[in-house]
Amino acid sequence: MRIFLILFLFFPIISVLAQSSDPTFYEGAFSDAVLKKHLYTLASPEMEGRKTATPGQQKAAAYIENHFRSLDLRPGTGEGYQMFYPVYRDSMIKMNIEVNGKSYQPFTDFEVNVPGNFSTTMLGREWIYAGYGFSDSLRDDYIGLDVRGKIVMVLGGEPPELLQQQLKAGLFNPFAKREAAQAHGAAALIVIQKDFPRMAPSNPGPLYKNAFKDRIRIFTIDISEKMAGEMLNDPAGNFSDGHAQPKPLSADILLDFKKEILTLQSSNVLGYIEGSDLKDQWLVISAHYDHLGKRDSIIYFGADDDGSGTTALLTLASAFAKAKADGHGPRRSILFLANSGEEEGLWGSQYFVSHSTMPLKNVTADLNIDMIGRIDSQKKPDSVNYVYIVGDNKISSELHPINEAANNKFVHLNLDYLFNDPKDPERIYYRSDHYNFAKEGVPIIFYFDGIHKDYHKPTDTPDRINYDILSKRAQLVFYTAWELANRPKLLKRDLHDHDNTKGK
Ligand SMILES: [Zn+2]
Repeated sequence: MRIFLILFLFFPIISVLAQSSDPTFYEGAFSDAVLKKHLYTLASPEMEGRKTATPGQQKAAAYIENHFRSLDLRPGTGEGYQMFYPVYRDSMIKMNIEVNGKSYQPFTDFEVNVPGNFSTTMLGREWIYAGYGFSDSLRDDYIGLDVRGKIVMVLGGEPPELLQQQLKAGLFNPFAKREAAQAHGAAALIVIQKDFPRMAPSNPGPLYKNAFKDRIRIFTIDISEKMAGEMLNDPAGNFSDGHAQPKPLSADILLDFKKEILTLQSSNVLGYIEGSDLKDQWLVISAHYDHLGKRDSIIYFGADDDGSGTTALLTLASAFAKAKADGHGPRRSILFLANSGEEEGLWGSQYFVSHSTMPLKNVTADLNIDMIGRIDSQKKPDSVNYVYIVGDNKISSELHPINEAANNKFVHLNLDYLFNDPKDPERIYYRSDHYNFAKEGVPIIFYFDGIHKDYHKPTDTPDRINYDILSKRAQLVFYTAWELANRPKLLKRDLHDHDNTKGK
């Protein structure tokens, strides 16, 4: 009886210990149903494509925050789950051009180059026609002209033979006309363009992240050929072949533009699980939750990019939170970092590394997940059981074998290292959030599925995701993360393959 009793009492305890210290016990976090629940929410019409600094992005942030809260993750900024940062957008609130009392129409007759410009009111009596407006060793349209303080008008494009010469001489520069006008001291540049009238833009102008401009650029206005013909007193448009001579002209010109700078807010969402005996050391797992938003009324759902990585991030948080609740939490702290601003230029991750909540030398690695739910169009139908591993061999020699071992033991995907080729024409290594960590010397792996036909299209929808593969790829990140969070030492930073590595 006694022996029986002891067995009876110990059996359930032993079995719980045996199961929960084994990471495979937490594979349930990556089930089809859970993955679909998250991804169909993140890539739903209500989230409107999650563009940075829009209500759709804020809804996605709230969803991620709620999930972190429900798991009892600690708020990643210390005070809250969202790390807010400002972004900016310009909008023109007044655009007026008058020539000899005649007023011209925005978008029909002219358009102002909004980003980087400033509000101005300019009144002129004389202006200068400067041909194609080049001024370099191949061609100088400014010879004999004094344009200082004056408005300059030039033709768009270049004469047919010049482009080839510029390319050959390494002098091609898309900003050449603007820079030439500025170098010669012009007050404003008017460029005659063929593609007018343009439609009034129904989409707002681009976002930018730095309100401080270190350079003032010359005010640049595109105008129609019709408007140019009137200003040049050449209604037949003979100037358009480029043979009109550069010359000063007289007219009363008024340029009147007012710009408003909108300051908007975006955020990264951060939650963490505190480690046990190595809690001041960190593992970061990241994915970006922003996407392209809407163009007109068309939604870019971004299910794969990067709804899939965000979904993986949420399930990884669930798996590690459950392990912790079972008494098998990680030795190191794990930060789950959902970035925004990625599609605008890796802004959220850049903001994070420059305002990080821990010293980056204590971060053993960043495992970044960006697009893991689809199959590369280059892959044959019988070779879909793969994931691209990018950047694992750049900073720490220990990382590649750890990821390989996790895969060989648990997941059995084909690990494809195609994009580790330094000559990769797509420069994939530089194109997601891990790169901001790598620049600071933090070892990284970027998990990626490749480029497919729905990449950055409105057709990147959750019904086109391969959930079996998404689950396996998320599990590979999980097993690699488990090892990185629990092994005795931080990864050593012994490779200097990376061109911008600061740390070692
Ligand atoms: Zn992406």
